[in-house]
Amino acid sequence: MKKMRILVTGAAGFLGSHLADLLLDEGHIVIGVDNLSTGRLENLEHLHREPRFSLLERDVCQPFEPGQVDVIYNMASPASPLDYMKLGLETLRVGAYGVFNTLDIARRYNAVYLHASTSECYGDPEVHPQPESYWGNVNPIGPRSVYDEAKRFAEATVMAYQRYLGVKTRIVRIFNTYGPRLQPNDGRVISNFLVQALRGEDLTIYGDGSQTRSFCYVTDLLDGIVRLVRSEEQQPVNIGNPVEWTIAECAREVLALTGSRSKLRMLPLPEDDPARRRPDITRARSVLGWEPKVQLREGLRLCIPYFTQAVQENTGARPSAG
Ligand code: UDP
Repeated sequence: MKKMRILVTGAAGFLGSHLADLLLDEGHIVIGVDNLSTGRLENLEHLHREPRFSLLERDVCQPFEPGQVDVIYNMASPASPLDYMKLGLETLRVGAYGVFNTLDIARRYNAVYLHASTSECYGDPEVHPQPESYWGNVNPIGPRSVYDEAKRFAEATVMAYQRYLGVKTRIVRIFNTYGPRLQPNDGRVISNFLVQALRGEDLTIYGDGSQTRSFCYVTDLLDGIVRLVRSEEQQPVNIGNPVEWTIAECAREVLALTGSRSKLRMLPLPEDDPARRRPDITRARSVLGWEPKVQLREGLRLCIPYFTQAVQENTGARPSAG
């Protein structure tokens, strides 16, 4: 395989840092960019002495020059609901200015550009499971709109650079993904449940726990997006695990696996929380030959050493504002 110079924005984040590791393992040169608003330097600590990795600590909302690059993975954005609701304006800006700036770099160097989009483009879906052809059911003014509409605007921008300027673009719609390096206190369901179970605290279920999500393990997700970059597919592609869980089932799975005696505690359902979500991965299967391999129980097991250490370092789960 040709050794390439690859730009990863959001490189200090959960997905960005794992992606940097994977690309370095393949022998590429990786330039990471992160303003550390939600990313963490500790996710990259192990690359300290890696000569093929460098980090630019800056905000992609300002134009910047990384030098010639062959591929850009645009992963920069707050992504946990608690984070993007707190950082609403930053989330809107990175989905707009950040996407324009990085697309301009792709255009300058004729690089392949992958944009990390989201199942939130489907909002609270009326079509189930969600194929890429579904336009979504998004509240444009609700609390999640800063993220959902930023990501939808970003998709429109990416498609426009492809149509008007001929940039080689890829769009991945990422469904709920989990793994080590998720911030233990980022408020997401898997991190909250694992931390709560390991600390013997109640597991916080928002609403009655009947809402569903489909959880993809980080290695499966990265395999999908790397395949997408190597493909010729210019339309959005869902990457996610199509096995659907209610949140209550997910809580019971965490309890069974950890052997925790924690109880379940019901809390109010946050506004506009999608009732169900499950990817239709027909396109990923046929175009990329991709399928997830790690099912929830095994993926949770793989997370336990990381979250156990986080609990020992005393980082708590973060409850929803309600
Ligand atoms: N959730 C929950 N308890 C928690 C955290 C989240 O019941 O401690 C629910 C949340 O209301 C949502 C689902 O789990 O229905 C997934 O939430 P998450 O924040 O992980 O991501 P989302 O899919 O909503 O973006």
